[in-house]
Amino acid sequence: MTMSQPAAVPASGEEQSPAGPAAAGPAEAEAERVLAAMLPPFDAGKMPAALAVRLVLAAGLVTAGAGVVLSGPVMAWLCLAGIAGWLCQAGVQMRKEAGQAGAGELARAAAVHAAVLPGRVPAGTLAAAGRHLPAIAAARRRDRAWLYVAPCPGPDAPCTVFCTTPATWTPGGQVMVILGEHPAALPDVAASALAHEAGHHAYRWLWQVHYARTTLNWGWAAAGLAGAAAGGWPGAAIAGAVFWAVSLLALWAGETSCDLRAVRTEGYPAVQVGFGYIAGLLAGHPARPGTPPPAPSRSRTPRKAVLTLLDWANGPAHPPLRLRRALGARPGPPGRARAGPGLQVNR
Ligand SMILES: [Zn+2]
Ligand SMILES: [Zn+2]
Repeated sequence: MTMSQPAAVPASGEEQSPAGPAAAGPAEAEAERVLAAMLPPFDAGKMPAALAVRLVLAAGLVTAGAGVVLSGPVMAWLCLAGIAGWLCQAGVQMRKEAGQAGAGELARAAAVHAAVLPGRVPAGTLAAAGRHLPAIAAARRRDRAWLYVAPCPGPDAPCTVFCTTPATWTPGGQVMVILGEHPAALPDVAASALAHEAGHHAYRWLWQVHYARTTLNWGWAAAGLAGAAAGGWPGAAIAGAVFWAVSLLALWAGETSCDLRAVRTEGYPAVQVGFGYIAGLLAGHPARPGTPPPAPSRSRTPRKAVLTLLDWANGPAHPPLRLRRALGARPGPPGRARAGPGLQVNR
């Protein structure tokens, strides 16, 4: 398998632009437009509603699962059809996102972006991408994974989830590792984030938990069905609660494995810096390096409380930071361990 070093080698004849997107030429500007357009839609204002919908969906699927066993024949068939309809809809959505449409255009844009990155992010960040992106590409059975440094819409517009956090996204069949502009500016934060992200792809079972719990949601229906078969409606309710707890524990175990992978490959000091960055984000500090934290806003406190409540009702995707810090505090390599063949993990 040939795995190129992401973002390190200019892949086109474009002139490098050391001054960032503002000084970019038309080809770079077009590439940025294509890459920004591939980001999944995300609206922070709609987060509480999205979390509430997820809760209702989980409860609905547990009920439908139980209905298959406990209802009369017509209702049972309707419940079954409802579950099948949801699974088809979610499956089609997943396939659409991973589809091949626009693959060529995306690859060209990503190559142009890769060529200008050396002028936009520190060398340490590019080196970290070189250590971890090949593992992500290998896990997804691709020749390479692209690094996309998502620009900050600020300083006038608020930061988004994309400019502040890492994520992996596979639009048009391309593996795009999205690293926000703010973590990308801090090599230790970037390194620990990319090492953690690579862990997501190394542990296949973690995806299965995600599918069962949050993507296809089949686990909720299965829990309702099994619980109802064992103990009627109370059994279904108990099974739903047990699935909530067990799948959350599994999710957190997976995320902890990713943290430990980061400690193993980047060393605990870098991971600690990464946790410090996350703590700043959670505290609402601006992620932009060098800018002072804003005064705490009273009007945002109730919204934050509602979000926290809904997040905990769903089950947070990552363990609380304090727990992550405690679990990650293992004797690892004192400094940064360079990636060797040991990092060539398979998904
Ligand atoms: Zn930002
Ligand atoms: Zn994670």
